[in-house]
Amino acid sequence: MIVIRNPADTDSYLSGDGMACPNCAGPLSRWGHGRNRTVRSLGAATTTVRPQRLRCRDCHSTHIVLPAELQPRRADTTEVIATALTHKANGLGHRRIAVVLDRPESTVRRWLRRTTPAHLDWMWRQGARRLIQLAPDVFTSLRYRGNMLHHTLTVLAAAVHWDRTYCGIRDSVWALIGIYTRGRLLTPP
Ligand SMILES: [Zn+2]
Repeated sequence: MIVIRNPADTDSYLSGDGMACPNCAGPLSRWGHGRNRTVRSLGAATTTVRPQRLRCRDCHSTHIVLPAELQPRRADTTEVIATALTHKANGLGHRRIAVVLDRPESTVRRWLRRTTPAHLDWMWRQGARRLIQLAPDVFTSLRYRGNMLHHTLTVLAAAVHWDRTYCGIRDSVWALIGIYTRGRLLTPP
């Protein structure tokens, strides 16, 4: 799986050196599409996407191109899931979050259970790496206040802020967080 900000840019990545096989760093070619996926956005809106598939010319492995707005094997967008995590970081329980987002309690509880200390530590490191590149002073000024989920989302959001400010990137907050965490908001690498 390859996470990309904007799937429409795939061709320009393929013609440059911006994209390589995750297994062997070999060159990639288009290889049809994966099956259609319909995912839920915030509220009742849905989006259907047909992910592109790429094949490595060296090791012949195939890779799905996942827009950063989506999470692998989840029926809800990155925005919906990240919003649930933000509510949890702010002290809401899974029942309240399920009501706010209009999702089944069992679904929300499953997401929240994925935020294990080890996984949060991994996500924090992804945000920290980007923030240190962009704004090291901001990184050193962040203080841990005893809530690891909150701390992780704070470092990711700070990286987004400075990516947009310094690099002029206009993608949504959630798409950028999807890029930093490589589509792994809920699933450890
Ligand atoms: Zn390869």
